[in-house]
Parts: sequence; C-alpha cells; structure tokens
Amino acid sequence: MEKIKMTTPLVEMDGDEMTRILWQMIKDELLLPFVDLHTEYYDLGLEERNRTDDQVTVDSANATKKYGVAVKCATITPNAARVEEYGLKEMWKSPNGTIRAMLDGTVFRAPIVVKGIDPNVKSWTKPITIARHAYGDVYKSSEMRIAGAGRAELVFTDPAGNETRELIHDFDGPGVIQGQHNVSASIESFAHSCFQFALDTKQDLWFATKDTISKKYDHTFKDIFQEIFDAKYKEPFNGAGIEYFYTLIDDAVARVMKSEGGFIWACKNYDGDVMSDMISSAFGSLAMMTSVLVSPEGYYEYEAAHGTVQRHYYKHLKGEETSTNSVATIFAWTGALKKRGELDNNKELCGFADRLEAACLGTIESGQMTKDLALITSIENPTVLNSRDFIRAVRRALEASLSDNG
Ligand code: NAP
Ligand code: MG
Repeated sequence: MEKIKMTTPLVEMDGDEMTRILWQMIKDELLLPFVDLHTEYYDLGLEERNRTDDQVTVDSANATKKYGVAVKCATITPNAARVEEYGLKEMWKSPNGTIRAMLDGTVFRAPIVVKGIDPNVKSWTKPITIARHAYGDVYKSSEMRIAGAGRAELVFTDPAGNETRELIHDFDGPGVIQGQHNVSASIESFAHSCFQFALDTKQDLWFATKDTISKKYDHTFKDIFQEIFDAKYKEPFNGAGIEYFYTLIDDAVARVMKSEGGFIWACKNYDGDVMSDMISSAFGSLAMMTSVLVSPEGYYEYEAAHGTVQRHYYKHLKGEETSTNSVATIFAWTGALKKRGELDNNKELCGFADRLEAACLGTIESGQMTKDLALITSIENPTVLNSRDFIRAVRRALEASLSDNG
C-alpha cells in the first residue's frame, strides 16, 4: 500500500518519561508504516529544555503559530525534586503554561467514549467537553486577614489620579477580604476560542456564571460572550445547526447531570477547575481524556490530558512490564492529523485518522485493553495487555480496516 502523503508539516513536540516511550511506539507501529509523516520536530523533553534554556519550548510555540497545528507529548513540569533528579539549571516553567501564554489559548478537554467503559452518569452517551478560562479570578487575587474593626473598600485609581471607591464591608470584628480581577481582552479571547471550537466540532456551547449575584463581575462575562456571539457567530451557528446557550451555573450543573452529553461547557476559571475533575472522573479514566489548546486565531495544539505517568516509567527503567494506556496520546495524534487534513483539504489523511480512532475503540470493545481500563470495564474477562502489545493489537485492527476497503 502506498503511504498517505502530507503537504504541510505538523509541529511535533516530544516529551518525557513513559509518554515519551509510548510516543515512539505510536510512531513506529501506527503512523510511519502508513503515513509519509511530515513533522517539524521539537524535543520538549526536560533535558533538551534545560540545555536550550527552555528556548525549544518557545520555538515550538512559534512553529505552531506558523503552521497552525501541533501535537504534544506529556512533559514534566519541574519541581524541586526534578531539579535535583535532572540537575537542572533552574526550575523551568510548565511548557503547557508557556505555550498557552504565547498562543493565548483555551484548553478543551473531552473524554473518549467507548462501549464497556460506562460513565457513572447513565444518561451520558456522548462526551462532555469542558472549556476552562485560564486567566484571573481567584487564581490571581489578593487577600487580607482583617484583625478587627475597620472599613474595607475597593479603590481604583486611574492614570490621572482620580479614585473610584466601593465599600466592601464595615468590620466590627475580625474577618477576611479578597480582591479578584479579570481583563476584558482575556474574556474576549476565551469567548472567541469557545465559539470557534463549537463551530469546529459542531457542538452546542453552554456558558454559565452567577450573574444574578455578581451583577458587575460575572455579568461582564455574560455580556462579552453575548456581544461577540451576536456580532460574529450567530449566523455561522445557525448555518451549522448548533446553539449558544447561557444559564446560571447552578442550573447548568443540574442540566448537565440530566443531559446525554455532546456539548461544550465553557466555565470560568474556578468552575472549570472543579467541574473538569468531576466530568473526567465520572467518565471513567484520566487515561481516556483528550485535551486541545485552541487559540482565538485558530491555532490548535493536541495532547493527552494525563501526565508523563512517572510511576510506570520507573518500572519500565527497571525492566519491569508496564501496561500504560496510550489511547489519549493516540487521539492527540489523530486529532492533529485530522485538523491538518482539514486545513490542507487532505481527505486521505482525515480518513486514516478516523480509521485509527476506530481501531483503538474496536480493540477495547473486543476486550483487549490496558490494566487501568480492565479494572473498570463492564466487559467480562478482559484481556490485559502490556503497553506495546496494546499498540500492536491496535495496529492489527488498523491493518484489517485499511485492507478491508482502504
Ligand atoms: P500522571 O502522569 O497523570 O499519572 C498519575 C497516575 O494516573 C499514574 O501513576 C497512573 O496510575 C494513572 N495514569 C495516568 N495516565 C495513565 C495512562 N496513560 N495509563 C495508565 N495509567 C495512567 O500524573 P503524575 O504521575 O502526577 O505526574 C507525572 C508528571 O507529569 C509530572 O512531572 C507532571 O509535571 C507531569 N504532567 C504533565 C502534564 C502535561 O504535560 N500535560 C499534565 C499533568 C502532569 P497508577 O500509577 O495507579 O497506575
Ligand atoms: Mg484542579
């Protein structure tokens, strides 16, 4: 069979530990035999980040701006222990944080739904995608403990020195106060990314805040979303047959629990932090969660939501067998290949990515899976495979699919 051609390169960001091992296996077994893979390679492994003073991360983000689509392996975010383990020059920042800041993007996380891994919420038959605003609010707030009686006020001083004041509280005893902020530019780019991604994936977009209580702060989020929707996205949404829907956060939670899924749920920073863990654990497994960073300009970076699976890597180094789930990393590749194919009008590439996804799901549904899934599946007597054998089983399913009507 002739290999599928690519016209524009994909930005490839390699990573660390067990996911770096899986990365190579996925390329060797599932991509290189079938696709004339055309990537611009950046090694975001911690050693190379340290050697280049993290310049490689910046370069990879710039390449993503140039080509529009990237696929990223999980990477170590250094802490004190890692500084010692790798003899780092300094405690480099999280690559994901650096890339997100450069692309000004929003992260969308969605579970991979497969028969035999049943969500805890019975009505959920389709994935629920969470979009979390990643700037400000309580994550960039200042706080004070109040020792006793006194007046607390919000004070804003403009460049000319004019002050605007708002009473927070007249304390007659001890207490606490907190000052939060957000900036309209960030809320706007969050809104654009959400509307873009909804159109892209043809799913409804839900957004919720507590604007009845927070009449200025949360209300600004609601207004910005509505203004941007009315100005730019109303017609495309109509054309795509999808809707934008705003409601109160408590109403949204109640509706989510009764829904069948299949929509994007945009959340403010704190709500997104809390709700994404709720959604991902209720869907079954962190190893089955995909993640894509979407910039307001429409640049895409695909990855798995999980980390480098350090514990498995140390077993691997000791020569012990591992059963690490590669599905979310494979779906990072298929997501990126499909987006590349879509932008380049390369139907063969899109078709290949669809077949690879179907091969993964078919393998699991046939009862062959890694240990993490075997522990939670409703399929009886599953076959537990090691890391490489699972990928080889997917390859066999893929080859069967390609020779069937390829
Ligand atoms: P982790 O890599 O997500 O793994 C935590 C645990 O979850 C694993 O020990 C394993 O449980 C289970 N798990 C996660 N992914 C799995 C998979 N694909 N297959 C099977 N089991 C899986 O988190 P971590 O060990 O706390 O973090 C390791 C490193 O990842 C850290 O240095 C962190 O900075 C980095 N990290 C990177 C990203 C990213 O690049 N996007 C995200 C998060 C964390 P068992 O051990 O019980 O089998
Ligand atoms: Mg959290």
